[in-house]
Amino acid sequence: MRMNPTILFPLCLSTLLAQDTGTAHKAAATALLNSNNSGAARLACPATIGVVSTANSPAGPSRAGGPPGGAAKGGGAAKGGGRGPAAAPPKENWYAEGGQVFDNLYMLTTKVNSAWAVKTSGGIILIDTLFGYAAQDAIVDGLKKMGLDPADIKYIIVSHAHGDHDGAVKFLQDTYKPRIIMGPKDWELSAREADPPRHDIEAVDGQKVTLGDTTVTIYITPGHTGGTLSVLVPVKDHGQPHLAMEWGGTALSGGTSKEMLESYISNAKRLKDISDGAGADVIIVNHTEYNDALNRLERTKARKAGEPNPWIVGKAEVQTYLTVVEECAKAWLAIGEGRP
Ligand SMILES: [Zn+2]
Repeated sequence: MRMNPTILFPLCLSTLLAQDTGTAHKAAATALLNSNNSGAARLACPATIGVVSTANSPAGPSRAGGPPGGAAKGGGAAKGGGRGPAAAPPKENWYAEGGQVFDNLYMLTTKVNSAWAVKTSGGIILIDTLFGYAAQDAIVDGLKKMGLDPADIKYIIVSHAHGDHDGAVKFLQDTYKPRIIMGPKDWELSAREADPPRHDIEAVDGQKVTLGDTTVTIYITPGHTGGTLSVLVPVKDHGQPHLAMEWGGTALSGGTSKEMLESYISNAKRLKDISDGAGADVIIVNHTEYNDALNRLERTKARKAGEPNPWIVGKAEVQTYLTVVEECAKAWLAIGEGRP
């Protein structure tokens, strides 16, 4: 049968143009890759640009070890409760030693995810909580090993309500009674979990969380989830002030909606401007691979007097990091005709 070219041609052309544009945006991201951002690009950029795929779950990317719904409590209960994979994996599969990276900033980590303790004169602000099964070893004992008292946790800022970041919130809320801050939309997400945390503070864009001598600023940057929070954290290196930026939700998939991709892009741009204006020169992450954080932590531990802090990457690298994820989102948007 002879196909009518006037029907076929516009469809083919638009698909090809979308792929061209997608390829161009991915190439723009790829051109900027280095150890400060290549892991972020791996999770944010489409792996291949060709046939449009919408096969991935719209709930977001799969989380290491966790089921897509992530609501099972299961084996996590024995070690701090909270959300996590249905059965806690063997410790050797996930455990990684944390460490101090600035005078006032401590990385609490697993092999895959990291959380951050900001030490202030008024106690600790914790950013993220890892999977529930890691709460005792990585958060509670992790803080104690570094001379900090988990009972001093006064605030927990949750970047977004996926189990690898909010898994231990309920346990920490019950145990130490900190205030919990989440984006409004992510409180809705977390309310659907088994044994969810009690509803507490709904973050406001630009919110300043002051504890003692330290103020962390929160921005609502939807894209990875509807209420993803990104933060700017003042840190000190041997007394010298620096400013750390965390982009709170990074990974994208074929199931991410057009609306969320557009939000991701506009918020990455917005946070770039904010970070630039505020002078952010440090990148912190909630998945270790995003900026090679475990290796960076080892280099920090081996650092000798007078050597630079591996986390201080400079203002331009913070801008580049956000440009990389922005270009990845643009690539998804370009190839995603027909997405939800
Ligand atoms: Zn997530």
